[in-house]
Amino acid sequence: YKRLVLASRPQGEVVPENFRLEEVAVPALNEGEVLIRNHYLSLDPYMRMRMEDVKSYAAPQALGETMIGGTVGEIVESKNPKFAIGDKVQGMMGWAEMGVSDGTLLRKLDTTHIPLSAYLGSVGMPGMTAWYGLTQIMQPKEGETIVVSAASGAVGSVVGQLAKQRGCRAVGIAGGKDKCDYVVNELGFDACVDYKAGNLVGDLEKATPKGIDAVFENVGGKVFDASLARMNPFGRIALCGMIAGYDGEPMPINNARVFLTMRLTMRGFIVSEHMDLWPQGLKELGTLVATGKLKFRESVSDGLASAPDAFIGLLKGKNFGKQLVKLI
Ligand code: NDP
Repeated sequence: YKRLVLASRPQGEVVPENFRLEEVAVPALNEGEVLIRNHYLSLDPYMRMRMEDVKSYAAPQALGETMIGGTVGEIVESKNPKFAIGDKVQGMMGWAEMGVSDGTLLRKLDTTHIPLSAYLGSVGMPGMTAWYGLTQIMQPKEGETIVVSAASGAVGSVVGQLAKQRGCRAVGIAGGKDKCDYVVNELGFDACVDYKAGNLVGDLEKATPKGIDAVFENVGGKVFDASLARMNPFGRIALCGMIAGYDGEPMPINNARVFLTMRLTMRGFIVSEHMDLWPQGLKELGTLVATGKLKFRESVSDGLASAPDAFIGLLKGKNFGKQLVKLI
């Protein structure tokens, strides 16, 4: 089967040559192991940070090894009594068409009411990220105004919809008219500001007439500055991501004075460190998706070999919704 390994670390922007496609033999299973045929690979912004050899919350991706990544697929061979051939599972099998697991990190999936791919999006890690930041850090009350950046994306789209369900005014920030139209008309946000339209500060002011009570920050830089300038006293900020600075761009330092004057609280978080809350969050998200109350959109590229270009596109905002690679 085919796999993609990290061939070299990026110098500035990621380039296709940072990856290498390899053909590897399907290994024989040991007792307790399963063989999985991956159907979808999830591409996520965090992978860009792992490609660098710097101090972070997780160890860097090793050179010459299969790129890290979340996958959903099907058991095709089993020497583990807990898994049968045909079972659908979610795991971290990486950028590869197949993989072997001892079962410890595999989650069995029920695809009766929820499509398999959604377990990598709204009912998976990105959905949980939205749920965690909103319910544990922002804790918005009914009637409050919340702002989320990268609003049309895998995480942002869930943040706004969950906030609406809690009676908030949900305002998105996204790049381009198409994404903003989608955020308002399809996802039901109250407003969406196109940060590429040239009047971010003024447009955000119009969209948040009562100021901002809580922010879910995915982008950083100028986008974050615009939200900070609109914060109400005792506002809360869930610092989830700073994608504007991932791919080699220098990241401006944000205005810290406002934290004093507006008595703000900001907390960064890593969703995988809060596994205790996943069952609760995923239950809510799963029910919402199964009943059509949580909408999502996917950008799907075809075949493992397309993953590097799709990933580079994700880092440039070319995706529209959750970025996936279809492997079968
Ligand atoms: P998305 O589906 O939102 O895709 C990324 C989007 O970022 C792009 O589509 C683009 O949308 C937007 N973006 C904004 N500014 C830039 C820029 N300067 N360059 C490139 N893209 C930009 O991705 P996810 O929903 O998976 O992730 C969103 C954020 O959440 C990321 O920052 C990620 O790191 C973070 N995250 C954090 C986790 C945690 O545990 N803390 C877990 C999971 C995700 P647009 O066209 O609108 O600009």
